[in-house]
Amino acid sequence: MSVWIPYPIAHDLAHAPSSLRVVLPAAWGSLKGSDVIDGTRDLATLPKAHLHVHLFGSIRLSTVEDLARRSGMDDAAVKALVADIQSVDSIKTFLVQCHRVQDFIKAPEDIDRICREFIEDEAAAGVVHTEPSFMPHDAARTLGMTPERLFRRMDSVFRATARKYGMTAGYVMAPNRARNASYLKEAAKFAVRMRRYGVVAFGYGGDESWGHERMVEAVDIARAGGLRIDPHAGETAGPKSVSDALRLTHADRLAHGTTAIKDAKLISKLVRLQIPCDIAVVSNVHLGVAATVISHPLRRMVEAGVAVTLNADDTTFFAKSVLEEYELARKVAGLSDRQLATIARNSLNAAYMPEPTRQNALNGVARWLRGRGVSAPSGQRQIA
Ligand SMILES: [Zn+2]
Repeated sequence: MSVWIPYPIAHDLAHAPSSLRVVLPAAWGSLKGSDVIDGTRDLATLPKAHLHVHLFGSIRLSTVEDLARRSGMDDAAVKALVADIQSVDSIKTFLVQCHRVQDFIKAPEDIDRICREFIEDEAAAGVVHTEPSFMPHDAARTLGMTPERLFRRMDSVFRATARKYGMTAGYVMAPNRARNASYLKEAAKFAVRMRRYGVVAFGYGGDESWGHERMVEAVDIARAGGLRIDPHAGETAGPKSVSDALRLTHADRLAHGTTAIKDAKLISKLVRLQIPCDIAVVSNVHLGVAATVISHPLRRMVEAGVAVTLNADDTTFFAKSVLEEYELARKVAGLSDRQLATIARNSLNAAYMPEPTRQNALNGVARWLRGRGVSAPSGQRQIA
């Protein structure tokens, strides 16, 4: 499978200090554990939950191309579309391209395909539980269906495909916070009604300059209805957006949380409360939240003890899969297999998933650390 690496990431890979790219023999110790060389375990087999991923921003690129062609675009126009998708560099251009892609959805079968392929791609990345974010309302309007009818159709495709791969899924209803107040309240009520079909949380994304205040009423409805709260915060806005999310919404998890690194007290609070931060490194680099993967605060947050998870955010535009995020965390940020296993464990502990599945997956993480990789030369044991 060829992996498209966006320019800033390719630059990082080329310029990463060699100590971050390879594990030097000097780092090998005689700690207890397996004989596996750190950095050689297969990350695709590391059981992980994917908690911050937008369904309509994660349509397979080949499917976007098919749908664009069907709309009448010729090859040159499709090529230009892909170039636009791959050069998203701000929240504004991202939202424009995201809407452009969604406009190609014209039939319920398109939605079936998007949901099926989404789960297939998650399974290929070693995801055992996924929590896609979306709202079905805009697509339902285009298709002349009620949001509930479309949602139930999506749920049946998700469920059937997930069963094939032994995966589970929960849904995060996540409106754009820029929408008007009555839509946001209706979104929260809809999320609560759809709880019986697998909605586990209410989140919200979009331009963070809108703040959290306008979401409080909708959040209260969602929480009273038994849902968890997963706002976007600490992405394009500073640490105040993170502290506001904690204060105003009592967030259970944060989508991003990246800019909290600028405030040491806030980082201590995130550690103390163990609020999971669902980090998406490649997305952050594209949207200017971090200049490069190396300078991204991922490593500092992990080392501070924040309950970090890794996520693709929008696979059409940023990392091609959550697996790519783990690979970059290893190859560029220099995280050890033990740190990567901790991140996977964080994702499973922060997931709204069935308890037996969680326990199974956590056992799988322990097995992953015990073996599966390239053995170190005899007599040399690897610090993992
Ligand atoms: Zn997001």
